[in-house]
Amino acid sequence: MSASCIFCRIVAGEIPAEVVAREPEVVAFLDVQPLADGHVLVVPRAHAACIEDMKPAEIDALFRAVTRLAGPVRKALGAAGTTIGINNGEATGQTIPHVHVHIVPRWPDDGAGSIHTIFPRRTSKSLADVGKAIRAASGD
Ligand code: 5GP
Ligand code: ZN
Repeated sequence: MSASCIFCRIVAGEIPAEVVAREPEVVAFLDVQPLADGHVLVVPRAHAACIEDMKPAEIDALFRAVTRLAGPVRKALGAAGTTIGINNGEATGQTIPHVHVHIVPRWPDDGAGSIHTIFPRRTSKSLADVGKAIRAASGD
């Protein structure tokens, strides 16, 4: 736990939150400034700033919880779908440096876009070059 981390303190019960799930490795609670009714944050209990810092078992538990909660969140709010996303790193707009998965309920004509709408599509490299670079960085 990081004493200076808001989400560690919510996990520890030191800061109140509207908790919707408590699991051995994961806690889920409502975002205090929801983008839509039912906006849930799913966080690992163990502090990690970004997903690359997490252990495989923690990742498994986190995404199992996201998968398990997506249906109930949608059902509870009468939503048509959910946008699920992570701001992974400060440069992406991540404001709390403790991994959290956003689950945001969606309805037709709710005024929000898809994840494609956040990018201006400023690409310059070929898919082949990018694929080669990522495979090399992955050790494949
Ligand atoms: P980020 O931009 O880091 O992906 O999202 C952080 C989210 O955490 C924001 O949507 C923000 O509203 C939410 N948040 C920040 N502080 C608190 C808090 O103290 N309690 C809760 N429940 N949510 C918070
Ligand atoms: Zn933390």
